[in-house]
Amino acid sequence: MALTIGVDIGGTKVAAGLVDEHGEIVAQTLRSTPADYPDQVAQTIAEVIKELAHGHQVEAVGLGAAGFVDETRSIVRFAPNLAWREEPLREKVAALVGLPVVVENDANAMAWAEARYGAGRGESHIVCVTVGTGIGGGIVLGGELYRGRWGMGAEMGHMQVVQRGRLCGCGNLGCWERYASGSALVEEARVIAAGEPRRAATLLEMAGGSPADIEGEEVTEAARAGDDAALSAFASIGHWLGQGMADMAAVLDPGCFILGGGVSRAADLFIDRVRESFTRALTGSGHRPVADIRLAELGASAGLVGAADLARRR
Ligand SMILES: [Zn+2]
Repeated sequence: MALTIGVDIGGTKVAAGLVDEHGEIVAQTLRSTPADYPDQVAQTIAEVIKELAHGHQVEAVGLGAAGFVDETRSIVRFAPNLAWREEPLREKVAALVGLPVVVENDANAMAWAEARYGAGRGESHIVCVTVGTGIGGGIVLGGELYRGRWGMGAEMGHMQVVQRGRLCGCGNLGCWERYASGSALVEEARVIAAGEPRRAATLLEMAGGSPADIEGEEVTEAARAGDDAALSAFASIGHWLGQGMADMAAVLDPGCFILGGGVSRAADLFIDRVRESFTRALTGSGHRPVADIRLAELGASAGLVGAADLARRR
């Protein structure tokens, strides 16, 4: 049996799995990320690989990294939540473990796993939208992962959707993720709670009375309890998600969208709004097939499964 190892490296956790050719995880392990020290990150990655490889024939290793990965799939140019700057991650890890290594952007790895083994099975044109604190994404076209010329494609969270809009972490104004992510959800709820506290009675009670203390989990909980402000905040991100997906569809015409990430766990609170807004904004609506909007199926392990599969196909 040909096994590969996938490692998902985020700002707080390094999750690794030994994966077979059907995308099944045979064994897995987890460490915290020494995010401030690139050499220690490489050491930690090497440790989890050695731990999982012990007693197995391992063909290759795929690293899913939360950062901008170059087109040769070896260097992490920049990572917002780790100290990587022009980090030669592939060479470092390959030297430590003595196996072939490929590096992939983590959202690309997740998209690939969903395309192969998850919600996108059977589809060849897929846009995966990962909604967490921000928006990440991956694009599969004609059955292949689309990386762009420099490896920096599919950063869809930074499409500008509002002119002179909210300031984004990337330095631009009005990016999609400032209106359609987990942080946008919280911001929206705080604004409503501050301006119209009567609509946010349940939410404010949960947050201890202060709009500034409202957190994402509370917005979800309050929405489930029928809080008007929390429901409006979900409706707002649902609207913006659908709008952005319609823009993506205008360019890419995918067969399906896959919605993943932490915020998608509360999808029942906004998915109808996403579909409604998508259908309304879709160019040529009424005269074209409407792409399916599906929920991701593989959960938190998608990143490592995708990285392992990409290593197999290196
Ligand atoms: Zn941005």
